[in-house]
Amino acid sequence: MIVHVAEIALDNVSKVFSGGVVAVDGVSLTIGSGEFLVLVGPSGCGKSTLLRMIAGLEEVTSGAISISEQDVTELPPRARDIAMVFQSYALYPHMTVRQNLGYGLKVRKTPKHEIAERVSRAAELLGLDQLLDRRPAALSGGQRQRVAMGRAIVREPKAFLMDEPLSNLDAKLRVSMRAQLASLHSRLATTTIYVTHDQIEAMTLGQRVAVMRDGRIQQVDTPQELYARPANLYVAAFIGSPAMNLVEAEIGAGDLSFGGFAIPLTTTSGPQAGRVIAGIRPEAFEDAAFADPSLPRLEVKVEVVEELGADTHVLFSVAAPRVEVSGVRADTGDEDAALAAVEGSLFTARVDPGTSARPGSPLQLAVDPSRFHYFDPETGLRLEPDRALAALAN
Ligand code: ATP
Repeated sequence: MIVHVAEIALDNVSKVFSGGVVAVDGVSLTIGSGEFLVLVGPSGCGKSTLLRMIAGLEEVTSGAISISEQDVTELPPRARDIAMVFQSYALYPHMTVRQNLGYGLKVRKTPKHEIAERVSRAAELLGLDQLLDRRPAALSGGQRQRVAMGRAIVREPKAFLMDEPLSNLDAKLRVSMRAQLASLHSRLATTTIYVTHDQIEAMTLGQRVAVMRDGRIQQVDTPQELYARPANLYVAAFIGSPAMNLVEAEIGAGDLSFGGFAIPLTTTSGPQAGRVIAGIRPEAFEDAAFADPSLPRLEVKVEVVEELGADTHVLFSVAAPRVEVSGVRADTGDEDAALAAVEGSLFTARVDPGTSARPGSPLQLAVDPSRFHYFDPETGLRLEPDRALAALAN
């Protein structure tokens, strides 16, 4: 199979719809040749519009798009040599799988024998060989989605653009199609831009992930970096499940205090002071009975215990104002219900399943201060622990 790969470069691309809606606001981004990049963000953040601009389905208000160093900003979709896969499969119901797969090539007047070859290669790649003579009505949802993917693959385009291609599938099938997509990309190595609102899909599929909000890219990084070093409060709150606990806190003489707790900051030196937003991931906590005895502890009142098998989530209240990050959803239904009954903030700790935590009872938790994140309460930007604490001292 001929491998076409392309670098896609966006230079300060914006889209303003009539009526003044700024859907995409000055995005600059380069997607490497053969890279799998995910655009993730909540509904309305502009990710579909950006993808459609790359495909040529939406005009660009300002900025430039190039594919393989060729400026395509003004080119129609057909001239860009990229294939799109959408949420709806839009297969032709009266055609067999074979005809559906080959149709795009047929209208492009590709020779018959070449169509047959490409269709059979794609069918083999996607495990559709046994289904080639069936019509879409006789296929499962996952099989239909694979045919839709196959139609893009037979074109052997320079890049795939995918807009929520798995969102019509049930949860279990989505997980299995996700794995198939990842393995497909590792075999084809075609440049892929994939749009989703699902951060788990983004983190599992993307070699890099671009987090969008209000038409702007907040951070582009590997999934590991996004998780370990979120650039701002928005990314911190959006990436990770259960979400990072965020709380307004005060750095005093060598400790971090919030909601009546004071946690010694052994990693910092010298007296520093200042107001920050502290971010603590659920796994930075552990039931003290299972934790390193040298870690600081706090006694909390347990509100909810969620037993998930491999680990257990303990939800507890903290007497400090909730940090609301606009545009980021509350984590789970359980949490919503518990939140309504709680004054202040509701924290989640991920603890050993052997925990003795019971709703309504106190629990000793250990916490690892070297895993704390800090954000500027005014700008929301990440503060690097050492430099941040030093800056606060001035
Ligand atoms: P979703 O996941 O819900 O599809 P999205 O992140 O893909 O959301 P877009 O569809 O790109 O978001 O929309 C971005 C913004 O542009 C939204 O505020 C939307 O209402 C607006 N918008 C999209 N298409 C048009 C249009 N044709 N005319 C005017 N405004 C539009």
